[in-house]
Parts: sequence; structure tokens; C-alpha cells
Amino acid sequence: MSFTGKILKVNLTNKEIKIEEKPESFYRDYQGGHGIGLYFLLKESKQGFDALEPHNPLIFAPGLLTGLRAAAVPRYVVISKSPLTGALGKSEAGGYWGPELKKSGFDALVITGASETPVYLSIRDEKVEIKGAKHLWGLETGLVQEKLREELGDKGTQVAQIGPAGENGVLYANVVNNLSHFNGRNGLGAVMGAKNLKAIAVRGSGKLKAKNEDRLKEIFRWTAAQVKEHPLSSMLHKHGTPAGIKTVNAQGGLPTNNFELGVFEGAEELASEEHSLKPKGCYACPVVCKRVVAINDGDIIVDKKYGGPEYETLAALGSNCGISDLKTVIKVNEICNRNTLDTITLGMTISFAMKCFEEGIIGPEDTDGMELRFGNKDVLIPLVEKIVKREGIGELLALGSKKAAEKFGPESKKYLVESKGQEAPMHDPRVKTGLGLQYALSVNGADHWFAQHDPFFAAEDGFGVIEMAGLGLTEAVDPLDMGMAKVRLIYYTSVLNSVYDLLGVCIFGYVARSLIPLNLLLDQVVAATGWKTSWFELMKAGERAIAMGREFNRRQGFEREADKLSESFYRPLAKGPFAGKITFEEEDLNDAVEKYYALAGWNNSGGVSRNKLEELNLDWLIQ
Ligand code: SF4
Repeated sequence: MSFTGKILKVNLTNKEIKIEEKPESFYRDYQGGHGIGLYFLLKESKQGFDALEPHNPLIFAPGLLTGLRAAAVPRYVVISKSPLTGALGKSEAGGYWGPELKKSGFDALVITGASETPVYLSIRDEKVEIKGAKHLWGLETGLVQEKLREELGDKGTQVAQIGPAGENGVLYANVVNNLSHFNGRNGLGAVMGAKNLKAIAVRGSGKLKAKNEDRLKEIFRWTAAQVKEHPLSSMLHKHGTPAGIKTVNAQGGLPTNNFELGVFEGAEELASEEHSLKPKGCYACPVVCKRVVAINDGDIIVDKKYGGPEYETLAALGSNCGISDLKTVIKVNEICNRNTLDTITLGMTISFAMKCFEEGIIGPEDTDGMELRFGNKDVLIPLVEKIVKREGIGELLALGSKKAAEKFGPESKKYLVESKGQEAPMHDPRVKTGLGLQYALSVNGADHWFAQHDPFFAAEDGFGVIEMAGLGLTEAVDPLDMGMAKVRLIYYTSVLNSVYDLLGVCIFGYVARSLIPLNLLLDQVVAATGWKTSWFELMKAGERAIAMGREFNRRQGFEREADKLSESFYRPLAKGPFAGKITFEEEDLNDAVEKYYALAGWNNSGGVSRNKLEELNLDWLIQ
């Protein structure tokens, strides 16, 4: 089976360690990933609480297929209440940690309470210990991983951890495993820091056995043989996500100068592969797309063990801050990885401060004398160091752009680019409107993988239309459309992406972004579990998880009016092919949100209707 039937529960306040057993029916409803994560978050939390208080549960949950020798399913989710947004905190990562937790015998880890002193968790099969971590506190991630592997006497130990940014409560600190795989968004590293939990070291000697190992192997072999033939997966393998810089710039949607311009003169330089080494992969993934870089030229030294900047980082810290100096961006990425900072929110918070500086809303007296101007690469490294330590201007910028705007004053708010308090990722809704819906509707704030992206569905022969026809998406939809065809596309594919997260699927291995088609994913679920299942049952599980997320947010006070975009997106871009064009207005977005609500069975409280909850077997959520 692809699941173990056991959930590990650790209370850091009273040091209690328990194992809860779950029947097979639980896995059919909640599967894995955010399904199981949300189940325990809702069961273990109350209404309206602070994300940094001990009560906030912190859940680590691998996908249903994670841990099997199946293609591109290495992922696990971390779920909690986000200290950045006050809404649901949810972020997935690949790498090796999720599969190791499954091999140690657990389908999820539920952490509650907080320790009085720094600790780490050691999980070696079913031997679970809470150990002192005073000797690790304050250390960067590379050193912590090295020390823990030495201390535990096993180089194969997988370490998920926080760096100094998480310890210091930077509200967008993240969690890293294997030094370069991140649960990047929503500030979940700050929750771990507030619990005084430095790391979770896992080693499992078990082996998950699928019901039909032969079929899994067959699909794995097919995938490995096709990677270099398929146009999208071979592109990812050869160039990784940074290849997106040139493509998105050519389309006129590369976030530049705090999302004011859609094109960047330094795009070629940012996309250069000059410092790239052979890419790395995640557990059991034949695509192997993770970028690795190294620099050793005297003034800048970058260690390859921290991976390299992906598309999102290059755009957030590069073009969006007007900076084209690749070496500086690579170095800042490494500093973020050593300290566990979300590079998207970091880049967006800096670009917001730069815009406020350029407009005269703040001045050198507010920035410790730094000239925060677009293109000033010299401020990046000192600024990030101040943010990690929460010193000077870094104290305020450690809270993210929305909270910084409260201090900068009302004039600054029109330059925010966020949704539900989380800064937008590097995709502009003004050139692909589905992203506007994704940012507005996502329960965890602006998120670019709430659903599939518009360009895959722009033409009849596009990958999206060909691969998603079985879901009923048989026609091309204009990337600028904001009518019913776009709402249907976002609704169906948001449920699909929810299924991906339940199963531990990496979006860069599967359609529409890559090569593995939907029928082979279903075959893998059947081979793993032996269930007589179908895409209908999987999509219902996807809807169930989305509904639980809505209900969590409703309990935390997020209603219908929270599903919106910041006003920046209603102003036209100032440069590039979309310069001066208004592609949609606030009214158009509101209409589309209304339509989505009707399809999803949501109501004006922002939550889910009683009928829908009953249909999804979520009666236990009805007040
Ligand atoms: S496609 Fe890339 S990111 Fe996804 S699992 Fe494979 S190596 Fe990791």
C-alpha cells in the first residue's frame, strides 16, 4: 500500500508522543498532502488564534503516492495558520524528506504546543525523540544538516529545518529540506521558530510496497524514456525553470520594477546559464530539473550545495527590483537558502520599498541611509542581512509589504501587489487573466499553482486543451478572457491541482506543464492502492480539500470580500506589448469570482454551503 495507516502526533509543550491509527476509508476521503493536513488542522485548532501562539498546529503530510518508486511524486505539504496572512498557511516541497517520513512508517506528523528551549525531532522508524538543539540554534542550514547527520551517525538522514530567519520570526521564513527544496511560502518557518523547533531529522528503513509494483515500474520506465523527447519536459531538464525569464519577457509579462513594467532590458543577463552546473532532481524523478549553480571569483563565492535560483527568484529579486546583475541575484538566493527566507515575498517587499522610495513616500532617514532605488544592486545583500537579523529597516521589512505599508502610510498602499496579505508570485494577471482569479481565490494568498496557467489553453493544439480534454476542457480559451469559459477552466483545473497536491505530484512532471498524462496518473493510484477508483472520485477528493481550506479561512474571519486583488493590477502596464491596455476591470474579476462561487457551492460567508459539505462527506464541519 502507498500509506501506512499511522499518524505521528507530538506535543512539544508536554513532550507527549502518540501514534494515531487510521482506517483505509480515511485515505479514500483525505488521501494525503493537504487533505490529511487540513483534516488535522481543523480538528486540532480553534476559531481565531494567533499563528505564532503554541496552540497553532503545524502539520507535515506527504502525498498519497509519495515514497513509492513512482515517477515525480516526491512532495509533501506543511500546513498551519500563516503568520504572514492570518489565513491558511500551506506550502509544498519536493526533495527527499517526504518519502523518508513515509518510509519511517508515518503518513503525517502533527506537531502541537511549543518547547521552552530549542529542540529538534529525531524520527528513526518508530523511535521518536525530542532532543535538545541549543547547540544548533543560530546556525545556518548547511552547518545544521552536517552536524545532525554526524550526531545521528547516518549520512542518509533527511533534515527539514529552519535557519536564523525562522528563529528570528521573519514572517516569510520558510522550511527547507536537503538545503535546496523549500516549503517556500506563507511563513511556515516562523511557526516552527515560535515552537522552538529547529529541525526534524528523519530516517526510515521501511519500504512502501504498491499493490501492483509491475505497473508502477512500467510507468516509471515509460516516463524516463520520454523525458528527453517531450518538448516541455526536455526543456525543463536542459534549462530548468529559469528558461521562463526570456519567454515571459517576450510575452510582455515579466514582473519588472514592482510589477509596473512587463519587459526588462536585463532579461538576457538574468537568464544566462553561465554559472550553472549539472541539474539535480528529487526522489524518484526522471525529469531532473532543479538548477544548481556555483561561483568562485574572489568577490562573490556561492556554494553549490544550496542549489540555485529558479524562475520565481530570478524575477522577484532581479527584474522586479530592476536588477540584472546575475551574480548578485545568485548570491542573495544563497543567503536566503542558508537562512530560510521566501525569495518571492522578500523580492516583492524590497521592490515595494523601492517604489515607495522612488515616489518620496520614504527617504534615507527610513532606510538606514540606503538608496532603495530600482536597479541599485548594492543594497540587496546588506538589506537581506538586516531582514534576517531584524535590525534597523530590516525589522519592518521582516513583516512583509502589507504590514510595512501600515508604517509607510496610506499613500504607499496603492503600490502593494498582494492578495490576502501574501505578495504575488512572478506571473502578471494583466497578460493571463486566469492568474488574477487564482490570486484572488486561493485560500493561502496569491498562489500561482492554485490552477493551471492560461497559455497552455490558448490554442486548440495547446498542451492544456489536448491533455485536459478528458476533464471537459476541449476548447481554446483566450488568455485575456474573463468570462465563463475562463471560470470553468480555472474551476476544473483548481480541483485538478488540488488532486496533484493530495497525491504528492510535482507539477513539473505532469500535464499540462510536463509529460505525464492524466490516465497514467490514475493508473499509478490504482497500482499503488489496489482501489477501484476513477478520476471522478479523485476530483471529489480534490474538491473536499479545497472546501476544508475555505472552512478554515472562514473560521479565521476571511469572508467573500477577501477574495480580491490589490489595485495595482487594475492599472495598465507602462512598458511592453501590453503598455496602456486595461485587460480587465475590478467588476470583471468580481463577476468571475461570483461565477466560481456558484460552481464550487460557496456562499457569501466565504465558506461552503451546507449541501456541498454534506455532498463531500464533510458533515463534521457543519456548525
Ligand atoms: S520535475 Fe523537477 S522539481 Fe519536480 S520532482 Fe522532478 S526534479 Fe523535482
